This record gives sequence, structure tokens and C-alpha cells, in this order.
Amino acid sequence: MIGSSVVVRTRSWIVLCLGLLTVGTPAAFAADCPGHPDALGTSRTLVVDPHEHPRIGTMQYRETLPLKDHEVVLTFDDGPLPKYSNQVLQILADECIKATFFIIGGQAKANPEGVRKLVAAGHTVGTHSMNHPLTFDRMPIEKFEPEINGGIEWTSAAMTDPSKLAPFFRIPGLMRAEGVENYLISRGIQVWSADFPADDWRHVSSDRVYQLAIQRLEAKGKGILLLHDIQARTVAALPKIIRDLKARGYRIVHVVPATAERPATPTTPVEWLLHPPTETVPIARWPAVPNFVFTQTQTLPAPSLADLNAQTGHQPLLPRRTMAQANVAATLPVPDRDLFAIPEGSVEVLLSTTLSRRAATRLAMAAETPRAAKGKAAKSQAHRTAHAAHGAPKHAAQAKGTVARNTAPKSTAQGAAPRPTRVASLKKRAQ
Ligand SMILES: [Zn+2]
Repeated sequence: MIGSSVVVRTRSWIVLCLGLLTVGTPAAFAADCPGHPDALGTSRTLVVDPHEHPRIGTMQYRETLPLKDHEVVLTFDDGPLPKYSNQVLQILADECIKATFFIIGGQAKANPEGVRKLVAAGHTVGTHSMNHPLTFDRMPIEKFEPEINGGIEWTSAAMTDPSKLAPFFRIPGLMRAEGVENYLISRGIQVWSADFPADDWRHVSSDRVYQLAIQRLEAKGKGILLLHDIQARTVAALPKIIRDLKARGYRIVHVVPATAERPATPTTPVEWLLHPPTETVPIARWPAVPNFVFTQTQTLPAPSLADLNAQTGHQPLLPRRTMAQANVAATLPVPDRDLFAIPEGSVEVLLSTTLSRRAATRLAMAAETPRAAKGKAAKSQAHRTAHAAHGAPKHAAQAKGTVARNTAPKSTAQGAAPRPTRVASLKKRAQ
């Protein structure tokens, strides 16, 4: 018994030593969490200069935080809301994790103590507007400026030391707009998007939040996780997320803004790219900043109206419009605008859908003016339009047949006066 115990102990020491050699400092920061020897801890503090890298988060921007593989930054939006924010705070405290909170001015006004608790616990505190309007993408400066300033004023007013407020801002619903970004940047405020959400503002189970957080993190290998500290499901999912992060070898990074006394962590520009180009992949230039496009649309289900959180007065949401776009992108290619145009003078579309074949032929002869140059294009367009408008293969096939049959009569109708055919009148005539 004694012998085997010694062997086990020796093995443990070997494992521990190997762990120290390969992983580096985890043992040190876990030990810094009194009473929680198994805590995930915070592996390092990253000091960033908003002036150097003003827009971060690959959900929307080219750059993101200069994280190493398996490093994660936790962010929480929309608080503080005592009921849930306090629980989130306790969970983070038990794991000795430092996170970044994006405060809503209205919440800070109603619960200034909640802001002070965040600061006292050593978390980074940025802002998230005054009232969380989901219209930042279409507000003039007269509207968005007081929203930004209100959030900053009420959050800093809640602090014992207002200099603790980080110049970090997350646009509500990630409704980015260049004017808003330029305004923030001109004031030295860093615009934070994220690298992946966990859909914790939707009506999904806490288990689903956990799954999405881990799945999306695993897909990117590192990054900024977007969560909300005002949701029961987030509170329920968080311990599990943290346990799994630890089991999978992830490390937490705490981000703070650079100050005169605290210079930015030295980095190279390429470290601010999630997946820097390699020598084997030639890239001439990076694409322009997109209008809120999820980088992994296939993994993000679009919320339905029923998904919107109507239980709380405040609704933390990602943009509905953008999510709808993501859904479209995941299922169908966006059709050309001219796909829906009915060519002037063309009746093939209507023939295929509203009339009998005989009536269609008769009307085509009467109404359609042959246009030798445009005939082919119009036919193909009519076919496509019919298909797009109805989506039924039956109609599409019918349209094709009708078009083919109408080719000859069209050429014999030369000389008839060109006359646009109105949809309404055609329908009337067909009935
Ligand atoms: Zn929000």
C-alpha cells in the first residue's frame, strides 16, 4: 500500500512539473484564488490602447484582441441588474476570473451600487449607451451622442473613482454605423464588438447557451465571448461554461485600457488578426469592414419573433434585421434586384401563372411586341421571375413551355403597336 502510494505521489509530481513546463503559469494563478484551488483563474492582463486599435471583434471588424490560442475574454452586457448580476459576480469571484462589463446608463442610474461592486471586484467597466436603443445604425449624431454620453455619465457617476471607467463601448445590438464609430474613436473610445455570442438573450435553455459558447469558441480557438449578466439562463450556464473552459485548457485574459502609468502590452499588428495570413496564403488586401455580418452564418440560427425576450422591460437583443440577413445568407443566395422586375411589354410571366395555355397564346399575340434584341433576355428573365416568384417547379416548367410556344407568334405579330401590358388588366381579362 505504502509503495503504491509513493508511486502515485511521484507520478503526480511528474505530471505537475510537466504541466508547469508546458502550460506555464496556470498553477500560479489557480493558487491565487484562496479557497478555490480548482479555480480557472485569470491567466494574464492585457493592456490595450484604444487609439491604436479602435475597433475590435471579428463578428464585425477586421481586428480583434491580440489573444493567443486558447485565450478567452469574457464580456457581459446590459447590467447591472442586482438579481442576476450579483450571481454572475459571485460565480466569477469563485473562479477568480476578471471580465469586462458593458453598462447601460439607465441600469447604473437605478443601481449604482451594482457598478461599484464590479469595480471593487477588479473587473473592467465600459459602457453600452444610456437606454440601449437598437437604432444606432440609423441615428443622427444628435440622437446617438446623448445616448453615448448618458451611459458614460451615469456609469462614472456611480463610481467612487470615475477614472476607473474604461474607454470601451459596445454598440447596443451591435448596430454599428461608421458615424457612430468615428465619433467614439475621435474621443479615444474603443469600439468593442465580439468574436462570438452564445445567444443568451434568446429564449433558449441554459444548456443551449453553454453549448453555443463552447462550440463557437472551439470553432475559433480563442476570442471575445459575448454574454449578458441580466439573464437567468446566463447565470445557470456560466459555471458549466467555466468548468468546460478549464477542462479544455482555455485561459482567461483580463483586458484593461492603457493609461499614462500603464502602457499597452507590446504586440505586433498581425496579432490583432484572429487568423493571420500565412506565407502559403497570399492576401493582397483585407476586405472592407462589412455591415454586421456574422462570420459563421451557418452556425447562427435567426431568432423568430417569439425569441424576443419580453419578460424583462429591457430587451437585450442582437439586431433583428441583421439576424434575418444571416438566415437568408445561410439558406438562399440573395437574388438580383432586377430578378423581380417585370420587363415592360412582356407577358410571359403572367401567362405562366394566371392563364390557360390557349388564352396565354392569344394574349401574347395581341399584347406582346416582338423585340428581337431583347427577346432572349426577356424570356430567360421571365422564366427566372416565375420561378423566383412562385418557387414551384410546376410553374417554372409551365413558364418555360409557354415561352417556347410563344416564340413563333411573337415574330408574326410584328407591326403591332408597342404597348405595355398592365398586370391588373391582364388578370381581369383572364377571369
Ligand atoms: Zn446590449
